[in-house]
Amino acid sequence: METLEKRVNSFFRELRKEGFIAKRNVRSCCRSCVDLGAKDDQPVLWSFGGQGHAVSIKGNSAYWTDSPEYNAQTIEKIYLYHDELFTDGKVNDNGRKVSDLMRKHGLSFEMWHSESKAIVLNMV
Ligand SMILES: [Zn+2]
Repeated sequence: METLEKRVNSFFRELRKEGFIAKRNVRSCCRSCVDLGAKDDQPVLWSFGGQGHAVSIKGNSAYWTDSPEYNAQTIEKIYLYHDELFTDGKVNDNGRKVSDLMRKHGLSFEMWHSESKAIVLNMV
């Protein structure tokens, strides 16, 4: 199987081809200030970078890149926030596209309920 790095990159690239806004390590002061420039109804999937936090995936491991003392620690999961993947509390076609693509690329994840608007992507 391809490395985690390649699989995650392919997953994000394919989502963008499908018309999603799909970005990692989005920087802003907090989650509510994030502006991804999405059009109405455009599905989005992104991870929060805060003020300098960044997760770097190299080969089969994920690391924090912002803090040297943490560089040696691997990260077990990242949270992907989303919008327009659920309709009336149920996974819609966009959400199914996300889970299908994750499976296609051999990614391990937990699709959360619409209220939390987050998917856990396991770094394995
Ligand atoms: Zn803010």
